[in-house]
Amino acid sequence: MTRAFITGIGGQDGSYLAEQLLSAGAEVHALAHPDDRAPVARGVELHPGDLTDIAQTRHLLLDLAPDEVYNLAGVSSVARSWSEPDLTGQVNGLAAVALLESAWQVQEASGRAVRFVQASSAEIFGEPTSSPQDEATLVKPINPYGVSKAYAHLAVEVYRRRKLHAVSAILYNHESPRRPTQFVTRKITATVAAIAHGEADTLALGNLDARRDWGWAPDYVDALVRAARADDARDYVIATGVAHSVREFVEAAFARAGLEDWESHVVIDPAFVRPVDATELVGDSSRARKFLGWAPSVGFEELVGRMVDRDLELVGDQSSSRPSR
Ligand code: NAP
Repeated sequence: MTRAFITGIGGQDGSYLAEQLLSAGAEVHALAHPDDRAPVARGVELHPGDLTDIAQTRHLLLDLAPDEVYNLAGVSSVARSWSEPDLTGQVNGLAAVALLESAWQVQEASGRAVRFVQASSAEIFGEPTSSPQDEATLVKPINPYGVSKAYAHLAVEVYRRRKLHAVSAILYNHESPRRPTQFVTRKITATVAAIAHGEADTLALGNLDARRDWGWAPDYVDALVRAARADDARDYVIATGVAHSVREFVEAAFARAGLEDWESHVVIDPAFVRPVDATELVGDSSRARKFLGWAPSVGFEELVGRMVDRDLELVGDQSSSRPSR
């Protein structure tokens, strides 16, 4: 039986990854951040800890000796990385490299191959001069989040040279109803649902023209597992290859909720405009399609629709459980 170790279990991707691995019969262990309140799939063995506690995490990994390590823990928002750049560097950069070293030590001690997957990000490319980007695109980040992810991304190659099956999955934005509302997509769908139920009136956003390559989170988690289990260790861009604007996302969300005249509900708030915003990031996932047999299974309209539908259900449930006056 495969023994897997996941960090970031309380996040969007960690929850889907745990479910996928469990349903495929793996034994799943996870580092549980003490702040995490998110429900975790039954069957996951939780180990309380913080990734930046390097000695404790190393001890845990050497003890568990997993076959697969998925490093998903991180300060995952660009906005937060601007307010906490040092923490972002510690968690996404230094602690990720320490985990690589721990995985390598497990391999050395056990004599068994360990497969390591790092959740990297398209933000490592910053403002690329060409589009779409692929694994050969210049790494040149423009925000603290991208810098921290770039450090770990480059270290993956270093450990691959040390014969660790280490993979950096260069993930483009991926969404789901489990995305926290701090992220623009979920903020849009949650607010649209509230407006549809008469519980909100306005949606405050930054740059409506910002464009992203948005995919369906469970597809991206599936790519991580495929990359871990592939014969050869390589880096992979995981993306749909199609960009849409925030404006298109808003239009699709209002339409799904049956609301016309979305513009009357949307206000532009300069507070939500990023200090430096990446230009169009669109990924070319040809390598993942070729070597992993991977392809996105959910298109843009369907992705927005699934998120809106779930938020409509959630707001409906909250409204009906509220005592009537
Ligand atoms: P997420 O929902 O923010 O989950 C990240 C998890 O990491 C959270 O449960 C968080 O716990 C945990 N964590 C943060 N600091 C930690 C620490 N010091 N020790 C242990 N755990 C810690 O992010 P996600 O969307 O699932 O993304 C997973 C990974 O993919 C992240 O590394 C992210 O940067 C990367 N990625 C995501 C996307 C995307 O579109 N979703 C795109 C590119 C790359 P707390 O909440 O308690 O802090």
